[in-house]
Amino acid sequence: MTDLVQMLVGPTVLPDRVRKAMDKPAIPHRTDEYRRLQHSVLDGIKKLFKTENEVLMLTASGTGALEAVVQNLFEPGDKIVIPITGNFGELLYNVAAPYGLDIKRVDFPMGSVADLDQTLDAIDEDTKALFMVHNESSTGALNDIQAFGEALKDRDILFIVDAVSSAGGVDIHMDDWNIDVLLTASQKALSAPPGLSFVALNDKAWGVVEEVDNQRFYFNFNRDREHLKDDITVHTPATHTMYAVQEALKLIEEEGYDQVLNRHKQNALTLRQGIQDMGIELLVKDHADSSPTVTGVMVPGQSIYFQEELLKRNIQVSWGLGPIADDSFRIGTMGAVSPEDVDSCLKAMQDILEQ
Ligand SMILES: *Cc1c(COP(=O)(O)O)cnc(C)c1O
Repeated sequence: MTDLVQMLVGPTVLPDRVRKAMDKPAIPHRTDEYRRLQHSVLDGIKKLFKTENEVLMLTASGTGALEAVVQNLFEPGDKIVIPITGNFGELLYNVAAPYGLDIKRVDFPMGSVADLDQTLDAIDEDTKALFMVHNESSTGALNDIQAFGEALKDRDILFIVDAVSSAGGVDIHMDDWNIDVLLTASQKALSAPPGLSFVALNDKAWGVVEEVDNQRFYFNFNRDREHLKDDITVHTPATHTMYAVQEALKLIEEEGYDQVLNRHKQNALTLRQGIQDMGIELLVKDHADSSPTVTGVMVPGQSIYFQEELLKRNIQVSWGLGPIADDSFRIGTMGAVSPEDVDSCLKAMQDILEQ
């Protein structure tokens, strides 16, 4: 039997080396061995974020990191703007809403990116933050974070970016692009298991954290930062996911970061082209807006059928989300996905159509 080809949008395929890296005894989290592990993991994420800022590690999925950001940077009544391009923009809204913030949402149709001018129009002098997703994982639309960062450069506003489904597969420059808070999680483009998320804050954001008067215990950035000095976390971290992330980062370094980015880009492009050539519609129409990590495919009323037929041919893809759940599915070229995997997927799609 041929091996299962996993083209998922998170949790993503786990390379053998990443799996084996977890085959270790328990590691007490106050030992020197642990400290070296934490240091190495956070150093790797720092490089991935292209930042000089410290990186905090949270034992939580990406949503936990989003909630931690809300708890540590905002107080009830704070005004924030959230552009919404699909389910993950919506997730940002849903995470922030219970905290009594004054949220202005800027809605865009599914499949499109956030328009810069329309988003800027929603910002006024009282707006404390622009909170947005880099890669909209429900559709495969990639927001132009560099352009947003440039536009916000000299404004007194926090720019907070969710790079959960991009960091590691799409280039992101925290410092050069004026991002004040950047976060990601372990189980997406890094190709490591779930359990950890990472948040970096610059000095401007730390200034806000210090002023904010909000209730928080587990997700307390000030306490996290104190412990960071000693290369430890406050509470028990997901140690074996850390081993996996360490190995995943090593794999990226060995392949070469630029090569990793090119592979993601090329895989997604080949996939898009191949699917279009079959006469099937893509969720993101414009190549220029499309994501290197997620491709949304429109198959009206046939989402389940395609997922099942692909699985019979050893290709596992991810379900559709939101109002188009029955009409679409998503293919991940996220993490350790090879050009051969993309070819297998296209062949299987062709085979299904010929049936
Ligand atoms: C997956 C994802 C999240 C949520 O992360 P979890 O780890 O599933 O909690 C948030 N934002 C984006 C863009 C995502 O792709």
